[in-house]
Amino acid sequence: MKDFNDQYWHNTDVNEILDLFKTDLNKGLSEAQVKEKEEIFGKNLLKEKKTESKIKIFFSQFHNPLIYILLSATLITAFLNEWIDSGIIFAVVIINVIVGFIQEVKAAKAIDSLKNMMTTEAMVIREGEKVHISSRDVVPGDVILLESGSKVAADIRVVNTKDLKVDESMLTGESLSVSKENEILQKDIILNDRTNMLYSGTFATYGRGKGIVIATGQSTELGKISNLMEETTALETPLTQKISAFSKILLYVILGLASFTFIIGLLRQNSMIETFMASVALAVGTIPEGLPAAVTITLAIGVSTMAKKNAIIRKLPAVETLGSVTTICSDKTGTLTQNRMTVTEVFTMQNSFKVEGNGYEPKGNFFANDKKVDNIDDDLFEILQAGYLCNESHLAYKNGVYEIKGDPTEGALIVSFLKSGSTEKEINENYPRIDILPFESNRQYMATMHNDLKAKNNILYLKGSIEKILQKCKSDTDIEKIEKEAAAFALKGLRVLAVCKKATDKTLIDEEILSNEFEFLGLFAIMDPPRAEAVEAVRECKTAGINIKMITGDHALTAFSISKMLNIVSNDTVFEGSVLEGKELFKLSDEQLAQKVQNVNIFARVEPEQKLRIVNALQANGHIVAMTGDGVNDAPALKQANIGIAMGKGGTEVAKEAADMILSDDNFSSIVQAVKEGRNVYDNLIKFITWTLPTNLGEGLVLLVAIALGLTLPILPVQILWINMSTAILLGLMLVFEPKEKNIMNREPVEPSLPILTRGMIFQMGLVGVYMLIASYSLFNYYLSNGYSVEYARTVAVNIFVFIEIFYLFNCKELSKTVFETDILNNKYLLYGIVVMVTLQLGFTNAQFMNSIFKTTPLEISTWGLILAVSFMVIFVVDIFNKYKRTL
Ligand code: ADP
Ligand code: MG
Repeated sequence: MKDFNDQYWHNTDVNEILDLFKTDLNKGLSEAQVKEKEEIFGKNLLKEKKTESKIKIFFSQFHNPLIYILLSATLITAFLNEWIDSGIIFAVVIINVIVGFIQEVKAAKAIDSLKNMMTTEAMVIREGEKVHISSRDVVPGDVILLESGSKVAADIRVVNTKDLKVDESMLTGESLSVSKENEILQKDIILNDRTNMLYSGTFATYGRGKGIVIATGQSTELGKISNLMEETTALETPLTQKISAFSKILLYVILGLASFTFIIGLLRQNSMIETFMASVALAVGTIPEGLPAAVTITLAIGVSTMAKKNAIIRKLPAVETLGSVTTICSDKTGTLTQNRMTVTEVFTMQNSFKVEGNGYEPKGNFFANDKKVDNIDDDLFEILQAGYLCNESHLAYKNGVYEIKGDPTEGALIVSFLKSGSTEKEINENYPRIDILPFESNRQYMATMHNDLKAKNNILYLKGSIEKILQKCKSDTDIEKIEKEAAAFALKGLRVLAVCKKATDKTLIDEEILSNEFEFLGLFAIMDPPRAEAVEAVRECKTAGINIKMITGDHALTAFSISKMLNIVSNDTVFEGSVLEGKELFKLSDEQLAQKVQNVNIFARVEPEQKLRIVNALQANGHIVAMTGDGVNDAPALKQANIGIAMGKGGTEVAKEAADMILSDDNFSSIVQAVKEGRNVYDNLIKFITWTLPTNLGEGLVLLVAIALGLTLPILPVQILWINMSTAILLGLMLVFEPKEKNIMNREPVEPSLPILTRGMIFQMGLVGVYMLIASYSLFNYYLSNGYSVEYARTVAVNIFVFIEIFYLFNCKELSKTVFETDILNNKYLLYGIVVMVTLQLGFTNAQFMNSIFKTTPLEISTWGLILAVSFMVIFVVDIFNKYKRTL
């Protein structure tokens, strides 16, 4: 089988291929065959670019300017026989590398687990049943089904198609979709011309098709050209890029400054080694080494929290952008509503019926004028039957519950038909289906053609939006009456489907037969209640300065009524002017639309292609737009939106591939959850930065002053290393776990064009840095001049730094509040971190081996009192500054 040269597949008859793979078009493969094939051909996977090995990640940690400095310092101090210093510096290198390694591995894991959540699916026939499987389980010989929006999972020889069009641009570069058909083609033609073949990685953009898988995994055309599939899930976002650019500049400045102090020290004829160590300390102390790691880990935590809340991030920058979203454009059906459809009313030209029952259980009576209907009349039966036949879904009964396989709108029609007391068997036998035109949003209707065995002719059923159906009905149809009825349903928030029929002797559905002369049968009114969580989510968006736009293919009045139920528009809103319909939108210029889009929140009867224009119009007004979508035609809008959101359950593969984020529960409120998390990620990064930079500044200033003025160093280089390492890990990193602020959805979105740090924050950081300088210097000098040893005074200075950092944490927990308004106990990691830090600090001061390594010495109780008092003051210094700033 293996030497069957693949270039002939397109030249081979389908039956031959079926024989070759011992498969059957209607039954597909058996489970045993699948197993066997999998053993021969393996999983349907492309060789992935090897993920970086742990060892490589570990050694990549050394590739960092800070580590270079530290390593050279280790060598030089060793060379100068300063073994203790050398050892400490080396220990710092190792700790840094290990911490960096752990963080990177963790972050990569968080991202990796996302990859697993994003497997694509394929529809195959196996053991005679249509099943959805993960595309990696597809084997050669599988009979595969495709519809618009499917991703082609393997290389396939087409068996039959219905208007199937495929986007092969990723393979051929041809941007127009190509039609596919079963025919036998010549041997010597290039890939682009093989119109009876489908290739892995391409997308069906229209129609449907059935085919046989002839190659999988690495043997596919895609596998041949891309030997290494690169899944780019780099840990990079605009923010991380900004920060690493900032760090780089800072690095050069600091290195310059360090060399400068080294030269000054030498000019002052200080000892070479001391000057050198002071310069190293200056460099190490002022480089905010924890920053990039903190950013990465914060993003990774954000990504995994979002995944737990049903928002799966496909592209990491989305985590950040979410916090800035100003407008969410959401589908109605299934996202804002439950997608649990029930037919509640049926209208025939003669009568109106209410339908009893809820959900998908096919039990309930029909009522006319509040009286139970005992005999279903012909008109009612005809429309119920039409609803059943013009349908592609199934009602399944599993473990005591009824569920719909397929489109819930159609499911509701099946249920209402069964409520009439008829059976599926009977109708299926009397009206076998001979052709179908599936539902597409753009078309707004679908059609099926059946043999009518009793009448000995064929019958064509159409169901769809009232506008489209009425256009096709006979001229004597009482359009006014029907429209009035439909409007009444829609006003109640019901979804309306119109149904019509036509007898014919044709056997295929074509343009002409669809165009006119249909007999109107009636209307279905379908209830699809709003999601309860969505109401709350909408409320949150309002306080959070986020606009919500409902975009739907549904009727304007239905959309309007549902919007009211959800409070997307207020209860006293009048219909006129509050809904923009697709056909009006079509007439507007881009500028007019940009104006209109500001005030209109409901877009009805919109074609998917128009979503792109809506996104553009909103963006032209400076909005950061999140847009949901599920179909092929939504893809351009999803790509253009700042956050494209695809539906995990109901979405096509095309939409998912175009999206930045996937909702695994299709639920609007999950978008809002994600926005909340996005805001929190941003908040916590700012908190970390505001906390960490002042220490670097303070340490830098202390050293700079000492060296420049030729004074004794108040803090030794190894002590600086101690402060930085221990506080960054035990204190700073814990800020990443800060829970969401209570008012997180009570403020405006973050303006992405603004710099990360506001002026106020920069001032605050300067203030704290200077406070550290003054406090440490004053106490250092105080003890020195009162006859204490240099070791003693230095121990005090170090403790000042550490304790100011501890107290300052509480200022940073909620930057817009004073410490006394802040819930200081709500982050247990932070509290544990502080406890460990304080314990370490006691060891650093009192334990003998620490004393000898770090040249420290135990302190008197009164000194501790003074340290705590001075450090505690930082809280007031910052709070008072902030109060003052607010009054500016
Ligand atoms: P949305 O998903 O925003 O509700 P759709 O494009 O699914 O919009 O539906 C638009 C209109 O098409 C509906 O108002 C309804 O009249 C019609 N429609 C929806 N689903 C079907 C279907 N399965 N068969 C026929 N018509 C449908
Ligand atoms: Mg729909």
